[in-house]
Amino acid sequence: MVKILPSASLNEAQEAIQKIYGLPDDRLYSVWDLLSNQQRFAMRALKGIRQGDKRKVKLNLIISFCWILAIMNRLHINLEESVWQRFPYRCSYCGKCPCACKKNKVRKRIKFLPDGSKKPTSLTGLQNMFREIYPSSQRSLEHAGIHLAEELGELSESIHMFFGEHKESYFQKITVEATDFFSCIVGIANSANFDIAKELAHLFRNNCHVCHKAPCVCDFSLVAKFKS
Ligand SMILES: [Zn+2]
Ligand SMILES: [Zn+2]
Repeated sequence: MVKILPSASLNEAQEAIQKIYGLPDDRLYSVWDLLSNQQRFAMRALKGIRQGDKRKVKLNLIISFCWILAIMNRLHINLEESVWQRFPYRCSYCGKCPCACKKNKVRKRIKFLPDGSKKPTSLTGLQNMFREIYPSSQRSLEHAGIHLAEELGELSESIHMFFGEHKESYFQKITVEATDFFSCIVGIANSANFDIAKELAHLFRNNCHVCHKAPCVCDFSLVAKFKS
C-alpha cells in the first residue's frame, strides 16, 4: 500500500505520486493532459476562493498540487531540490527573510548561495519556511489566488516554449516556474490556514484517493469528469 505520512518530505510525496500514478500517467496522459488537469483543479481552487468555500479551495489545490508532481515526475525534475535552490530560507528576489521587496523597492534579483544547514526536511517545514519568508499578513487570500493564476500562466508558457524548441534554457525555465507555482500553492495554504502535508496524508492514506489502488486504475474519462 502506498500512503503519504503527515511527516513526509516533498520528495516522499513526489515519489508516492509516482508509485500511484506513474504507470497510468505514462500510458494515458500526454504532458498537455497533465498540464490541463493541473490547471483545471487550480482554477476550481480559485473558484473556491471567490465563493469563500475553504473546503473547495483545500481539496482542489491539493489535487492540482498532485498533478504538478506528476508533471515533475514525467520531466524528471526533483521539485524539492529546485524549491530549495530558489527559496533557501530567503525571498528568491530580494534575498531577505521576511521578504523586503516592497519596503526596499528591489528592482533586480539578488544572487546568493543557499545555506544547506537551514534546509527543512519535511513538507510542513517547507510550508513554515514560506510562512516566514512571505507572512500571510502581507497579503489577502484573494491576492494569493491572483498570484497563483499568474504563475500558472508562466509555467504553461515555459512548457510550450520547451516542447516547441527543445532548448535546455527553456527546460530550466520549467523548473523555475514549477517552483514558483509551488510557492503560490503554499502561499494559499498559509493564507487559508491549512497544512498541505496533513491534507495529503488524509487524501492518500490508501493508494489513489478515488480507486484506492496503486497503480491507480481510474480510467481517463472518469478522471476527466472527476469533481471535488
Ligand atoms: Zn523579496
Ligand atoms: Zn485511481
